[in-house]
Amino acid sequence: MMNRGFLVLLWLLLSFSDISAQDYTLPLYPEGIPCASDLVEEITEVGLSGRRILKVQEPSLAVYRSPRQIATGASVVICPGGGYTVLAWDWEGSRMAEWFNSFGIDAFVLKYRLPHWESEACHDKVALMDAQRAIRIVRSKASEWGLDPHRIGIMGFSAGGHLASTASTHFDAGNPKAPVETDRFGCRPDFSILMYPVVSMDTTIAHGGSRRNLIGENPSPEMQLYYSNEKQVTPETPPTILIHASDDRSVKPDNSLVYYEALIKNNVPAAMHIYESGGHGFSFAENKGSVEQWAETVKIWMSNRGLLVKKIKVLLVDGQNNHKNWMETTDIMKNQMVASGLFDVDIERSSTKEEGKINEFSPKFSNYDVVVSNYNGELWSDETRKDFEAFVKGGGGFVSVHAANNAFGQWPAYNAMIGLGGWEGRTEKDGPYVYYDKKGLIVRDGQPGPGGHHGKQHAFVIELRDSTHPITLGLPKKWNHATDELYDQLRGPAVNMNILATAYSDPATGGTDRNEPMLMALHFGLGRVFHTTLGHLNESQEHIGFKTTFLRGVEWAASGKVTQEVPSEFVGN
Ligand code: ZN
Repeated sequence: MMNRGFLVLLWLLLSFSDISAQDYTLPLYPEGIPCASDLVEEITEVGLSGRRILKVQEPSLAVYRSPRQIATGASVVICPGGGYTVLAWDWEGSRMAEWFNSFGIDAFVLKYRLPHWESEACHDKVALMDAQRAIRIVRSKASEWGLDPHRIGIMGFSAGGHLASTASTHFDAGNPKAPVETDRFGCRPDFSILMYPVVSMDTTIAHGGSRRNLIGENPSPEMQLYYSNEKQVTPETPPTILIHASDDRSVKPDNSLVYYEALIKNNVPAAMHIYESGGHGFSFAENKGSVEQWAETVKIWMSNRGLLVKKIKVLLVDGQNNHKNWMETTDIMKNQMVASGLFDVDIERSSTKEEGKINEFSPKFSNYDVVVSNYNGELWSDETRKDFEAFVKGGGGFVSVHAANNAFGQWPAYNAMIGLGGWEGRTEKDGPYVYYDKKGLIVRDGQPGPGGHHGKQHAFVIELRDSTHPITLGLPKKWNHATDELYDQLRGPAVNMNILATAYSDPATGGTDRNEPMLMALHFGLGRVFHTTLGHLNESQEHIGFKTTFLRGVEWAASGKVTQEVPSEFVGN
């Protein structure tokens, strides 16, 4: 039986780890506020609904990070409502942020400036400007915060819903020449959650107060059109979910209807849930009947849109390589990984040999699920090698690509990870030559001689030797690979190694007359290693066979499984 002290301790730990709260506040414009005013901010407390903020002078973002163990990498900027006069800060802001945090979404409550209090010259501009800047800030900090720059959403309530739909229809890709770095990032939200939103400025359905506060009593037709967001929807408007109640007497559900229609017309993925009752400004709608379901509905919508998938964190290391195209191949691999939607990729680049600072290269391997190496150069420092060994031994994934198996001939643990290597002084002291003979038997040949060689570049056939491994399951038995170097005479300890595929090394192209290992899966401690010898040229890496096995290998090394379908264009011969 467990002792009670332990249970209490466990309970305390669990409850504390559940607590998410505001971490800190970031000013939107550290360089100086455009359209600055001399307003003095006021905060009032209204019963159960909490703080209300008026006369915002310094717009800012309240940062709510989700617990790291459940973080999905997705995030959302929240715009509380209040008719463009006040901000329902807790009711439609901080409480939503805490809810998002509970399922791994980082949240940012936007304290935007309120048109009602602003000067004639600025009243229609400030709120949109603030929302756009908020998205840019989150995107600019994505890599620092471990967020996915392609899963940044916006949520808005009532007039805040007008702001969120305005930001969803008025955005840019950033200005690469902007003096403030944040402005170089795009401000398009990747998804929108619109809660009983004001959408239109058309007087037949507009919310009078929000309209007056934003564009005045007698706006020009141009301004009315500009802020009637249903008229600004394009195919680039982000996927959206709208929540409203039929008996909303303050902001007519027609606002959601017209926006939904425009989204559908433009082929933008859209969902709309209109509940029979709930009125306006219902926040979580506790005890209000079926409308109370909206939060679960939004969560399921986010899940179905892939917004809650925890991506695999990849670190790609490079910086030295005897292949002149190494920066290009790094980009090719990074782009393949990012495009698959499964991975978030960071690159750590070492100093060059000439700079002589290799001892300063010390990536935080433990922040990642898998390390991909496009590195073939100087030995890393003792410390970095120790970190890397501990990372893989402890269950981290590793993927060695092409010339990465030339690196580190003098590092025994590395040779154990990759199983076989070439060049860099490798000989019989490092292990046998390993290959398949013509009868299909594995040969381990300990005769003396150097490790690593290749004939002239040519296109060759890859043949699977193991079709049951997660990486190769469902792949063609044989396929034509692009022009590449066919590595032969690799040697190494080759233990805990499973040869997944070989290629025939033809003497006619300078080869060995053996079936040489091309793809290998290995174990090192608790870690999984995928080793591909392929990928000398850009075109070698762009080939469907390289790409498919590489992406599957990275996923397997990181997680032990492969969820990717075999692409239909990947056919055998
Ligand atoms: Zn090469």
